Amino acid sequence: MNFLSNRVEKLAESETLAMARLGNELKEKGVNVINMSLGEPDFATPDFVKLAAKDAIDKNCSYYTPVPGYKDLLEAVCLKFKRDNNLSFKPSQIVASTGAKHSIINVVMATVNPGDEVILPAPYWVSYSEMVQLNEGIVISLPTDYKSDFKITPAQLEKAITPKTKMFLFSNPCNPTGTMYTETELRALGEVFKKNPHVLIVSDEIYEHITFQGKMFSIGTIPELKDRTVTVNGLSKGFAMTGWRLGYIGAPEAVAKAVVKIQGQFTSGASSITQKAAVAALNADPSVVLPMQEAFLRRRDLLISLMKEVPNIKVNNPGGAFYLFPEVSFYFGKSYNGTVIKDAKDLCMYLLNVGHVAMTPGGAFGAPDYIRLSYATSEDIIRDAVGRIKKALADLH
Ligand code: PMP
Ligand code: GLU
Repeated sequence: MNFLSNRVEKLAESETLAMARLGNELKEKGVNVINMSLGEPDFATPDFVKLAAKDAIDKNCSYYTPVPGYKDLLEAVCLKFKRDNNLSFKPSQIVASTGAKHSIINVVMATVNPGDEVILPAPYWVSYSEMVQLNEGIVISLPTDYKSDFKITPAQLEKAITPKTKMFLFSNPCNPTGTMYTETELRALGEVFKKNPHVLIVSDEIYEHITFQGKMFSIGTIPELKDRTVTVNGLSKGFAMTGWRLGYIGAPEAVAKAVVKIQGQFTSGASSITQKAAVAALNADPSVVLPMQEAFLRRRDLLISLMKEVPNIKVNNPGGAFYLFPEVSFYFGKSYNGTVIKDAKDLCMYLLNVGHVAMTPGGAFGAPDYIRLSYATSEDIIRDAVGRIKKALADLH
């Protein structure tokens, strides 16, 4: 008997998590694998955040919380949005969830009807397309490449919008390319959105604290777009808190209410302890995370300079996040011991099994000629990894 739903049969496994799992399996067999597949900071959560969590445990914050989050958390999020992004929200427009991933699926479930079109600039983060399809939405992918720093143009956006467009969903800075749109570029895209008031904009800003080209601009600050932009953020990346699971949205009131309704049926409020830790993190001066940002910048510069020496791959100069997304199609059709590398997936498996570096194939991000490296790891490991990649690629003929 097959008890599985058609819905889950159509759902792809998260490729980032799948590659991390394969890398770890090989590691458990005793192979010295470098795992650059998963986007996860290698830093420890700041001590003051840990203390707030310990305090919450001691004070017995152990009961169900309100579904959208504790009042002091909603207020801290409002303050953070105003202070860091110049976005004005009332607490009733904020919903905290179990990670930004959860925030995004909540918003998709709350807004996307079967047959609605959702525009995703490609490359896009793996889970966006699966979330849209799970809700029977139609993914409209806008292709870009490394030559244009993976940025879509206003003309491209305008052409993609139809009466059926429900949502435009993007991450800025972008996972998997590291691309960060400038204020001018976002204002130019904003002009297209102004002409199309039926499109909801979802701006995933989870990498806002990891930027190398000045401050990130939030598209929701454009006055005409304010009432139809959902801004997503979370603690995983900026505060090195992936396992704590806290994401949040600032949204139009009707969307926030709908998300609370969904969350109330599925998961209830996020972890009480994590919420109290989040209040401490969000109320802190954002400069507390600067040392991590500086380390990421050094790592980015090192990785780019080393990757430029690897023959026949092409890279951009990412403005944020901690990913590099090289174009690797030169190696398709080459072989190793008689086995042909057909595509990026084969190349990733080869680089894992022979080079012992785990990375994620670009197909999952809507860009099959690329692979993704996460450089949230030490400079020594980055040097070692690129050495291995270079050697393994040189062995392909
Ligand atoms: N959005 C983007 C662009 C991401 O890269 C990630 C995870 N790396 C998430 C959302 C989800 O983050 P989390 O659920 O850990 O908050
Ligand atoms: N979002 C991170 C990544 O892209 C973590 C894995 C995941 O949540 O899919 O690697």
